Amino acid sequence: MAKQDYYEVLGISKSASQPEIKKGYRKMAIKYHPDKNPDDKTAEEKFKLCAEAYEILSDENKKARYDQYGHAAFDGPQGGGGGFGGGGMNMDDIFSQFGDIFGGGGGGFGGFGGGGGQRQARVKGSNMRIRVKLTLEEIANGVEKKVKVRRKVQADGVTYKTCTTCNGSGQQMRVTNTILGRMQTATTCGTCQGAGEILNSKPGGSDAQGLIVKEETVSINIPEGVTEGVQLKVGGKGNEAPGKNSIPGDLLVLIEEVQHETLKREGSNVHYDLYINFSEAVLGISKEVETVTGKVKIKIEAGTQSGKILRLKGKGLPSIERYGKGDFLIHINVWTPQELTKEQRNFFEEMKEDDNFSPNPQKSDKSFFDKVKDMFS
Ligand SMILES: [Zn+2]
Repeated sequence: MAKQDYYEVLGISKSASQPEIKKGYRKMAIKYHPDKNPDDKTAEEKFKLCAEAYEILSDENKKARYDQYGHAAFDGPQGGGGGFGGGGMNMDDIFSQFGDIFGGGGGGFGGFGGGGGQRQARVKGSNMRIRVKLTLEEIANGVEKKVKVRRKVQADGVTYKTCTTCNGSGQQMRVTNTILGRMQTATTCGTCQGAGEILNSKPGGSDAQGLIVKEETVSINIPEGVTEGVQLKVGGKGNEAPGKNSIPGDLLVLIEEVQHETLKREGSNVHYDLYINFSEAVLGISKEVETVTGKVKIKIEAGTQSGKILRLKGKGLPSIERYGKGDFLIHINVWTPQELTKEQRNFFEEMKEDDNFSPNPQKSDKSFFDKVKDMFS
């Protein structure tokens, strides 16, 4: 879609003077201002486009280039449009530009400093970080963890009032005289530290911001398949900030894995060393194995070699990306007896030269790591 002409955007003619351009922008910015059009994405886009148009047209250099080449003058990363090439401005940029347009003696739009509908500063509380230890079983199945956190919250009965220094905007405009004329810059309000509000009544026991530390139980839903080092976010469960317009910080949960006694995780696969005795390897046997999702019965065939791997498909861990599940791999280890009775010793002495006891690995036996079998029973 072709980009709308900047002059049209501001509702002005191509021969508009700088004061007319400014006037046009002021009018459009008021019309599409987010405070007047809450949750209206179209208005927000228009608001941004107006800011962009004004940024170009209010600068004689950029305006000249625009008049000559149109939008093409500012396309691409080298466009020189102050970062407008592809993206447009963010709201903070636009609001910080407003000091220029609406601030000082400009009149016309007092809204951003006092009066109704001004932009309220929204201060966010700090994030909190905790670590949560999970067993392999909890990781396999997902778990709801309840943790106790000590977070800062607004004390009962605390009230805040709009900061009179900045009238709630959280910013103070500073006017300086430069060779280019009067310049206005926005700085964080020194009275409220940008919060836009100050403490009105402070309940006993609360700090200078009306906050108290409170122990709270937060429940965290941990999805299955998380890995060590993953960080989950519980929105709004960090520290609260002062002020009725503030939003609380987040609780960041760092996942730690508890080393399992017998199981070893490798991505979404789980490995397990199973020891069987010499007779079991020779004769075959059924065994019950504890996987991460419960007990599974497996059958070990007669004549099983040490080092054989049995693969239980889908009995491993889910991957956090939800592409199926990993496998549970059982590594068979044949335990060689270390002490023998006289009779046992005689038996093995006899078998030494027996053909049935002499190693004769087949091709299929050699590739233990390729040869994996599903053995459910
Ligand atoms: Zn203030």
